[in-house]
Amino acid sequence: MKKILVTGGAGFIGSHLCERLLKEGHEVVCMDNYFTGSKTNVVHLLDNPYFELVRHDVTMPYFVEVDEIYNLACPASPIHYQYNPIKTIKTSVMGAINMLGLAKRIKATILQASTSEVYGDPAVHPQTEDYWGNVNPIGTRSCYDEGKRCAESLFINYHSQNDVKIKIVRIFNTYGTRMHPNDGRVVSNFIVQALKGEDITIYGEGTQTRSFQYIDDLLEGMLRMMNTGDHFTGPVNIGNPLEFKIIELAEKIIALTISKSKIIHLPLPADDPIQRKPNIDLARKELNGWEPNVQLEEGLVKTIEYFRNLLNIK
Ligand code: NAD
Ligand code: UDP
Repeated sequence: MKKILVTGGAGFIGSHLCERLLKEGHEVVCMDNYFTGSKTNVVHLLDNPYFELVRHDVTMPYFVEVDEIYNLACPASPIHYQYNPIKTIKTSVMGAINMLGLAKRIKATILQASTSEVYGDPAVHPQTEDYWGNVNPIGTRSCYDEGKRCAESLFINYHSQNDVKIKIVRIFNTYGTRMHPNDGRVVSNFIVQALKGEDITIYGEGTQTRSFQYIDDLLEGMLRMMNTGDHFTGPVNIGNPLEFKIIELAEKIIALTISKSKIIHLPLPADDPIQRKPNIDLARKELNGWEPNVQLEEGLVKTIEYFRNLLNIK
């Protein structure tokens, strides 16, 4: 049994991760400031004596004795990370410094939840880990992209300068149960709109692409990454390489929900990446043959079911 700290543990990915780590027999400390996450996401874990929930902001130092740290604290949806961009940068950068300092002091292995956004609006397609990216450093997404890029730099430098055991995963668009209905990301937006019979809001023409990964596949990849030996730090892409146009996603969700919603087009936000698809060869090689198992329709069906119950829509 290991003692594990999950920052951002009350969020969408974090709450699933806490649940999975407890199931594997570990002791979990979940730390969150509840900006985009909530106690509701982990309330079902509170009876477990091996689970502790702590309200804390990762921009402030935090001390706890653990074997491993998963650093997830950071809003992930554009509407949330753009709400207070300075705070978003502080969360990524000061959060990384605080957690790396802790990892150094207690000799824990630390995994950073980085993102495909480090590739920005990518000129290389599909994206491989050796691509440096195409990020607008002063654009509306930069608080998130550059914050995460700086965090990666901090991780690599704490590793080379201070021997901290680090792991970096670059997570591609992930969806699933327990996403917030007002999260603002495309999968939850479209499902909620389709179930409520509201217009489906496509930004731009809907020809931009994303590759959608179901939460369970991500968790498996993150756990395997944490358990790779000292030789491998990453960064490694964790995502589903099947690529879809946003309009195709909308059509799939309308069909699966048998919705009468109609599609409307709204302006495309600034710097919205045109295409995104991971190359996962490195993950396959280093993570013991890891690859995604849940394909889009199967994952959407589960997520639609979740939102149907949550919103009480028959
Ligand atoms: P989320 O918004 O549901 O979860 C983020 C959690 O971090 C929330 O519980 C929030 O309250 C908490 N948090 C935010 N700022 C904090 C702070 N200063 N101190 C402590 N806690 C704080 O988003 P998510 O989708 O679960 O994302 C989790 C992590 O994975 C993030 O770091 C995100 O950048 C990364 N990621 C997610 C995706 C995705 O598609 N979901 C893709 C790439 C990377
Ligand atoms: N998007 C959309 N309608 C929505 C929400 C998002 O068309 O209601 C588009 C958005 O412009 C982007 C894609 O869907 O091209 C994915 O958006 P999301 O915010 O989920 O993730 P990210 O842009 O960070 O990959």
